[in-house]
Amino acid sequence: MSPVIYNAAFADSGFDGVFVAMPVAPGQADAAIEAMRSTDILGLSVTMPHKVDVMAACDRVSERAQKLQAVNCVYRDPADRNVLVGDNTDGAGFVGGLRAELDVDPRGLHCVVIGAGGAARAVVLALAQAGAAQVTIINRNNDRAAAAAALAGTAGAMGSHDDIASADIVVNSTPLGMAGTDHSASMPFDPASARVDAVVCDLIYHPLETPLLAACRQRGLRGQNGVAMLVHQAVVQFEHFTGQTAPLQAMTNAANTAVAARSQA
Ligand code: NAP
Repeated sequence: MSPVIYNAAFADSGFDGVFVAMPVAPGQADAAIEAMRSTDILGLSVTMPHKVDVMAACDRVSERAQKLQAVNCVYRDPADRNVLVGDNTDGAGFVGGLRAELDVDPRGLHCVVIGAGGAARAVVLALAQAGAAQVTIINRNNDRAAAAAALAGTAGAMGSHDDIASADIVVNSTPLGMAGTDHSASMPFDPASARVDAVVCDLIYHPLETPLLAACRQRGLRGQNGVAMLVHQAVVQFEHFTGQTAPLQAMTNAANTAVAARSQA
């Protein structure tokens, strides 16, 4: 999805750039960073399995990436283009999408996050930093739930499905409901257990409407799929890479068109 989104952004903004996907073998993250140093590459979007390894090769790592122990982009410090900075834009993308598309600010709200993997951790930290009153994590594995809850400091707690009844925002950050998997028909929780005025966010974007989001819509709950987070985290990266304001609408249109095409394939 990234080449589609960034190249749409370059085309719309007129910025003279191109985004290409390059396979990097496991263990070669430092070599990719060295390639950036010796060329005029503006930045790198980083995916698995390099999100941890790349940290050591950066000159500086943002506080949020340090807390998450995961970098998803590397860019040049505007004050010194030779200094390479590692950041993690996933959490900012999630909160940015929530504010922009649903006009919801997490400040003072009770948020329940289901799952405790990489995406959940970024969401938990961002919700806490945005002032959420409580961030409750529900996950199969208790150790991972506790580690995710710790990211939210005093606002963080481990919880159970009973907590969904009091949530203002519920986030699915498990793969339950993802197309092309064994659990494409599954839901991470019973939508009837959520308040009718709750907002339900699914981080999955394939399909655009998961069984969870379809059931929530039928109940009249407001919801959002994973395109919002995907695009808004790319907005932050585009601005890191180029120093220019990202063309949000062009990026959103490109992401939705690509996901819809993938769903029909
Ligand atoms: P991950 O690190 O593998 O974590 C997956 C989490 O889901 C774990 O907490 C795991 O629980 C839980 N889980 C997996 N299968 C489960 C099951 N059958 N029942 C209950 N819980 C289950 O994955 P991730 O990178 O965080 O990604 C999670 C989801 O977010 C994926 O759907 C991914 O596509 C989506 N995502 C979206 C964006 C976006 O921009 N929209 C970005 C990143 C990820 P345990 O800890 O108990 O194993």
